[in-house]
Amino acid sequence: MAFSDLGLVPEILRAVVECGYTEPTPVQAQVIPVALTGCDVMAGAQTGTGKTAGFTLPMLSRLAPFATTSPSPARHPVRALILTPTRELAMQVEESVHTYGKYLPLRTTVVYGGVNMNAQIAILRNGVDILVATPGRLLDHVQNKTVNLSMVQMLILDEADRMLDMGFMPDLRRIIALLPAQRQNMMFSATFSGEIKKLADSMMNAPQLIEVARRNTAAETVRQVVLPVHKERKHALLTHLIKTRQLRQVLVFCGTKLGANRLAQHLSRDGIPANAIHGDKTQQARVEALDQFKQGVIQVLVATDVAARGIDIDQLPCVVNYDMPHAAEDYVHRIGRTGRAGASGEAWSLVSVDELRYLADIERLLGAKIPTEIIPGFEPELGAMPEPARARQPRFDPSKQAAGASTPVSGAAAREALMASPPTRRERVDIEVPDTPPALRAQAAATPVRKQVAALFRPPGNAGN
Ligand code: AMP
Repeated sequence: MAFSDLGLVPEILRAVVECGYTEPTPVQAQVIPVALTGCDVMAGAQTGTGKTAGFTLPMLSRLAPFATTSPSPARHPVRALILTPTRELAMQVEESVHTYGKYLPLRTTVVYGGVNMNAQIAILRNGVDILVATPGRLLDHVQNKTVNLSMVQMLILDEADRMLDMGFMPDLRRIIALLPAQRQNMMFSATFSGEIKKLADSMMNAPQLIEVARRNTAAETVRQVVLPVHKERKHALLTHLIKTRQLRQVLVFCGTKLGANRLAQHLSRDGIPANAIHGDKTQQARVEALDQFKQGVIQVLVATDVAARGIDIDQLPCVVNYDMPHAAEDYVHRIGRTGRAGASGEAWSLVSVDELRYLADIERLLGAKIPTEIIPGFEPELGAMPEPARARQPRFDPSKQAAGASTPVSGAAAREALMASPPTRRERVDIEVPDTPPALRAQAAATPVRKQVAALFRPPGNAGN
């Protein structure tokens, strides 16, 4: 299918051609014709599928008849409202609207929190046709009476699942109550939880359901791999991988702001230019870090989930889960930063033993096991393991591996080794040490399962501790 078959106005087709897009992505091919009819649309599409153009192009096309060069603010009421969960995503959506709408005299602006409101107020006062906003800041403007939503004819919720995760439901309800009842609604969400469906039921009118990628699946162009490693060796492993695999742009996810800062510092000390973005950094610092990353000034951007939301970089080659996400759906969002629009990408998950349960949740959500790869020199230490158990796990034996080569193993086999049930281990200890004094045997038997499993992950040289 060609863009010219979709029914978009010529001004938009021209801008799309200039972007170098040759054909619509699947989500665009399905959403655009439906959205152009004015129907409500509920689309299950994650970041990287081309969803932004999926809603922006028909929105612009439907607003084209209202486009005017008139300077009068009255001729530019807010006609389309796009809500996003974070300021980064809001900024990127606004950029897309500008790019695709460059040949139409429609005014667009973005409002988000964390910055002074005055500049936003001045722009809103001049009249804006398309407003991209985060919910909290939009409500600030509503309260200040610096925005009027009574002419909105199109409401778009981008990454609706994330908005609900972030607790925006009450804000969304307040905003929706301010809009004219007669309007078109479009909702985009990577996942469809019960709460999302409830929200859709409450605000949409017989929406057309469009689900492009299978529900809760990761993009197929992403090569996913699990790298088992002791928690304390994650940083060394990451440095090793980045250096040996010569990746030019790596986005790394950390679970905490402090962890993100520390990792960026460690990597910089290792000679890998890195910076961190998270909620404690100023908006300006975040934008600067993102620009540095896009321009290749820094090789690694370490981010928390919230700060990374919506980062839009073409063909990001590699995403790393330094800390595994605790919510399985975050995994899908995280790895959606790579393998975009058909380009191939890598997603590495550095998994320590205490994170196996999160991995299990993720695999349950994906409906598939993620292949495991052991990196020589970073095998979870088996020093404390009795011989029979070691013999059953040859993939962890560095002596059997070619120097520098990693060993891909089937996810199921590695998982079996990593998650061997604790009673089996205790049984093995008993077999291995038949002459252990009864008192010590009793002590071993009483050792919590957690500690026994943890012994598998001791760093080398620390096996006896
Ligand atoms: P999104 O899922 O909206 O975040 O888009 C992911 C990336 O795909 C963005 O960098 C877009 O510029 C790019 N993109 C969107 N539509 C197309 C298309 N039809 N062909 C090629 N790239 C596209």
